[in-house]
Amino acid sequence: MILTVALATPLRRLFDYLPPEKQMLADNTTATEFVPGMRVKVPFGARTVTGMVVGIKDSSDQPGHKLKAVQAVIDKSPLVSGPLLELYLWAAGYYQHPVGDALFSSLPSLLRKGETVPDFMTEHWKLSSKGLGLGECSLQRAKKQQALVQLLRNRGAVSTGEIISLGFSRPILHNLADKELIERVMLASGEKDPSPLLASPPLALRGEQQHAVDNIRLDEFCPTVLFGDTGTGKTEVYLQAIAKVLQSGRQALVLVPEINLTPQTLKRFRQRFNCSIKALHSGLTDRERLQAWAEARAGLASIIIGTRSAVFTPMANPGIIILDEEHDPSFKQQEGFRYSARDVAVMRASRAGIPVVLGSATPSLETLNNCHHGRYQLLQLKDRGQSHQPAWQLVDLKGTELKAGLAAPSIEAIKRHLSHNNQVLIFLNRRGYAPIMLCHDCGWQAQCRQCTAKLTAHLHSHKLICHHCEWQQPLPHLCPQCGSNKLQFSGQGTERCEETLKDLFPGTTVIRIDRDSTRQKGAMERAITDIKTRKPCILLGTQMLAKGHHFPDVSLAVLLDVDGGLFSTDFRAIERTAQMIVQVAGRAGRGEAAGEVYLQSHYCDHPLITNLLRGDYRQFAGNILQERKLYQLPPYTHLALFRADALEPRQCEQFLQRVRLLAEGLMPPSEGVGYLGPLPGTIEKRRNQYRYTLLINGVNRRQLAQGLTQLCTAIEEEPASRQVKWSLDVDPMEMS
Ligand code: ADP
Ligand code: ZN
Ligand code: ZN
Repeated sequence: MILTVALATPLRRLFDYLPPEKQMLADNTTATEFVPGMRVKVPFGARTVTGMVVGIKDSSDQPGHKLKAVQAVIDKSPLVSGPLLELYLWAAGYYQHPVGDALFSSLPSLLRKGETVPDFMTEHWKLSSKGLGLGECSLQRAKKQQALVQLLRNRGAVSTGEIISLGFSRPILHNLADKELIERVMLASGEKDPSPLLASPPLALRGEQQHAVDNIRLDEFCPTVLFGDTGTGKTEVYLQAIAKVLQSGRQALVLVPEINLTPQTLKRFRQRFNCSIKALHSGLTDRERLQAWAEARAGLASIIIGTRSAVFTPMANPGIIILDEEHDPSFKQQEGFRYSARDVAVMRASRAGIPVVLGSATPSLETLNNCHHGRYQLLQLKDRGQSHQPAWQLVDLKGTELKAGLAAPSIEAIKRHLSHNNQVLIFLNRRGYAPIMLCHDCGWQAQCRQCTAKLTAHLHSHKLICHHCEWQQPLPHLCPQCGSNKLQFSGQGTERCEETLKDLFPGTTVIRIDRDSTRQKGAMERAITDIKTRKPCILLGTQMLAKGHHFPDVSLAVLLDVDGGLFSTDFRAIERTAQMIVQVAGRAGRGEAAGEVYLQSHYCDHPLITNLLRGDYRQFAGNILQERKLYQLPPYTHLALFRADALEPRQCEQFLQRVRLLAEGLMPPSEGVGYLGPLPGTIEKRRNQYRYTLLINGVNRRQLAQGLTQLCTAIEEEPASRQVKWSLDVDPMEMS
């Protein structure tokens, strides 16, 4: 027997090992008990490293005498069970990432270090898919077997102990197992919470919400897009679909964007359900994370709420996966194992035969395209109940005078809404005081020493900070070039806007929310509480403020600067801008007061703006999809982006030229395959490293994936690949 092992190393291949010598086995482990998903310790060069068995086979390509034996077996049963392990293998393959690193980088860190999982498992039985498909009248001649099937149908998984205590004998169990009608699962032995599932009654659903809940089919792979404006009640649909899943004894996995995992979301779930809800977020200690992971794996946690990486949480009884704000770029991991949690979630649901719900007010174009092609079912919510669609006002900035980015009509509107005792939300997606600091006498500008980028001035902390590499220095009082004291700021960030707003509206509370103001633990929660109690007040913030929150007293949203997103070189910028505008607008008028949205722009007749003004994200998305089709951009083609970083630009360029040559050998340029690059990155130098990129696009996803796998193997054999820092991003969300 040969074990194929994935090692916790950045190597792109698997390694063969012999099972451990007999005398080295733990007391009750025999060689035949090896199952993929168990962790092992193996010799690797002079070191011992942790690995995971991913396959078992009869023979190895390597000569027998060269194979080494496993040193120790860490797990008695698979840490990562069959379906989840297969998901990892698929994801590592598709995203062209070393399997071992994909596995170990997303496991709780204590497991990476070799700790064992708290074991609260006992044997349970549940219906197999064959058993689930059994008609009411089958097993007529075996009444006991029929009764047990009925019990499992009603209850989901039941422990062996309980089955026996209910009067079923072991032979009955074994009979059904032999017929493959039931299957054994290892589940937590903990007593089920006897209190009723619902802690508070569900809301009476509106028609389209009911339609949505009814159409999320629970017993099959059912990829569903819940497309509903903010405030149309998507969360209520999730809650009621989850209730049905929990009633059948299964678990729900809820994924939310990084920024959205607020106590608010959790609170809403806890208010509704009595069951065990585990949140996986960055605030957990390693021990807490492992505990939550293990409880999910054991089936003890009924609902798991987490960000991106939670998509790999093991579940004994998966029942539904929900991804809220599915368009959010934070679902794509930007370094290391560069997976899309959204796409992995859909793949996971498909393999598990369960529903997956992708919810958004502004679905991504990829997702809408999947709906057009009938791959995903589209359910829409348009009814906002009591609250109305906000009214849009376009403020043409051409030739107008601005006060720290605010035009006169916007200032008037703010005044009006404040005087009605309402709250106003001002959106400016740039933190700090000003993006440029310059000398009026000699033209000097504050530049980062490590990047080709300007430093942003932060007055609160008296610093100049690089937003690309975090490098910082104290704010100078005199020009470092000519010694003049005529230093000026150009452009505005949230700090400067806050200052102006306080001048314009003395006595009104201004609450600024951005990464700087919320850095301290608990600061965000304090701000949210503040917002709930201050009336009237001004909320000013970056995209942190735009997502997910429900501020019932906000009646006006003002968007100061969206023009940058209209003319970016990144083809996705326009989609992101539209999503941002719609999301921010959605914050206005969620309560009783009628909402208004003021959108400032120099380009008021830009098609994006005219579409959105009609409240028509659908129309907008349709137009942009046509454009993408014309230019053969995603979702009509698939992208793979190579990045190379090095101290010398020449090294990056030469390396990527070599990659392109190798790639063209494997995937010749044609109608279906195209190349762009090597090109210098949009920011030429970052942290003293130059960056170049090479973009490959392929119409056929599978062919592209196969070609890339071969290509990566070939690149690793190139000596030049060790002189640069290179990476491959499949389905990239960032293009630089
Ligand atoms: P979304 O998630 O789409 O932004 P929510 O589910 O948060 O929307 O709903 C917005 C508001 O409307 C919430 O305060 C919620 O309690 C309320 N709501 C949702 N559905 C209903 C309903 N069927 N009846 C009454 N109120 C509802
Ligand atoms: Zn100067
Ligand atoms: Zn920098």
